Amino acid sequence: MVTLTLHEARIDMKRPFRHARKARQETASVLVAAEHGGETGWGEAAPREYVTGESVASVLAALRRRELPAGIAELAGAPLEEALAGLAALQLPGLLGERGRPAPAAAAALETALFDLVCRLHGVDGLRALRLAGYGDVLAAEPAPMPVATVLDLGGDPVARLAALPSPVRKAIPHVKLKAGHEVAPVADLVARLGALVPDATVSVDANGAWHAEDVLAQAPRLLAAGVSWLEEPLAPRSWADLARLRQSGLRVMLDESFSSARDLADCTAHQAADLINLRVSKCGGPLRLLALARAASAAGVGVQLGVQVGEVGPLWATGRLIGTALRGTVAVEAGRQDEWFPTHPPLTDPAYQVDRTASRAPALSGPGIGLRPTRALLDLCALTYAEGQR
Ligand SMILES: [Mg+2]
Repeated sequence: MVTLTLHEARIDMKRPFRHARKARQETASVLVAAEHGGETGWGEAAPREYVTGESVASVLAALRRRELPAGIAELAGAPLEEALAGLAALQLPGLLGERGRPAPAAAAALETALFDLVCRLHGVDGLRALRLAGYGDVLAAEPAPMPVATVLDLGGDPVARLAALPSPVRKAIPHVKLKAGHEVAPVADLVARLGALVPDATVSVDANGAWHAEDVLAQAPRLLAAGVSWLEEPLAPRSWADLARLRQSGLRVMLDESFSSARDLADCTAHQAADLINLRVSKCGGPLRLLALARAASAAGVGVQLGVQVGEVGPLWATGRLIGTALRGTVAVEAGRQDEWFPTHPPLTDPAYQVDRTASRAPALSGPGIGLRPTRALLDLCALTYAEGQR
């Protein structure tokens, strides 16, 4: 038997995060606790309508509505490797979806909670469990602090914000991602000025699907001359033919909103529409599914970034940390800015969110599973709680 409890987390952010499609002032996450035998595993969904078509309401409905997929109750009582193999084999995004639309964010919350629960029941750390689950080929044997990208959103002058950092801090930055507005024309100049401040870093631009192909093509020579490393989701999602045209101009393309499944990856490779994809735990359906997609991308010759959803409150950033400190071959890794967005006293999680901003490094967490639990302070901030019956 596995008992699920769902918590709806809506927490005000201390400052809004702005990009071309959204200004976010509060988090919208669903926390899932999976309990068995006195142990609790935690997972989180950060559903975003413009990424997977899911919402907090749809995730809550997906996890409350139905009999959970067959096999879940047995996972808790199975030997470790059998439980991990069984979890990896579940097609949770499809099983939790409706009318043929998968629900990867709901799946991510459930997969993470069950993964964490299985790890805790067997007393194993998350990386060892991921390797035992069959992903040793894409993971390092031991975790290492991950290099953390700097993300500059539309909430201020990005050049001034980067310039304000002390030189040694700028020098440690491995990658800068600029969130762009709807206009393409000003971007090349911004990229050149940012690149001059971080000459050792790569610089990318994320348009969140807000640009038009002709505008980008007109600016392609200037963007290339400015040294942009890649454009993340430049056009409306899944504009495969136009994305291929951008690549033919010499620009490199990363998919984000356009990619959340093996089907998207297949479409992208069939159209030669991208060089890179952005993997995020919530939209990919959980840590095991993310690693399966990372492996498929590698086989298809597509590079990967490990990204975050803005406003991940706990289990999601811990799961991203687990993967980011071990996944091989990433072009960039993000870690979020939870320490700037959320109250830090009392901390929302145990351990509290931690990044070394001076060194642009984030350490691995330790302990069983994803290495993190929500604190009472976080659960007290959750607006609604649903306790589900035993499965
Ligand atoms: Mg993006």
